Amino acid sequence: MNAADLQKFCAAPDDIREGMRQPWSRGKYTYATNGHILLRVARLGDVPENERAPDAAGMIAKIEPPSYWMPVPPATMPPDVKCDECDGTGVIEGEGPDDDSIDCEWCGHTGMMRKRIGVAVADAFFDQGYLSMIQGWKIAPNGFKPAWIRSGNIIGLLMPMTRQ
Ligand SMILES: [Zn+2]
Repeated sequence: MNAADLQKFCAAPDDIREGMRQPWSRGKYTYATNGHILLRVARLGDVPENERAPDAAGMIAKIEPPSYWMPVPPATMPPDVKCDECDGTGVIEGEGPDDDSIDCEWCGHTGMMRKRIGVAVADAFFDQGYLSMIQGWKIAPNGFKPAWIRSGNIIGLLMPMTRQ
């Protein structure tokens, strides 16, 4: 997995969490995360360090090692649907300083969002879109705790959905 592949697992370019907008290197590894999924690969020479990036190693160290692995179930990327928060307009009416409207942060002002579909895997539910991005990988669900995911030398964590 190279820097461009990792970029797909990062936060959006306009996300307020600056440290998550692109992959970063620290120690022996290179990481990528958007807050829902986190990946760790062997350090890539072309990915610089970033002081604003989160403590991924600390997050990984907190999660107990997996007791078993299972294949990620087949999943396709769900279609985009109208954003519920702004009803597809891309703006929220009357929330600005003078009752003016503001850009909808949920959909990044586009009016569309990826449809959220929970897929049951063992004792947890995961977002179908994320499962579609890790086809052929192994997963170790762990109830409401983050699941381990892996493929070859890549390891990571995937947050479960709290409800279907
Ligand atoms: Zn919206």
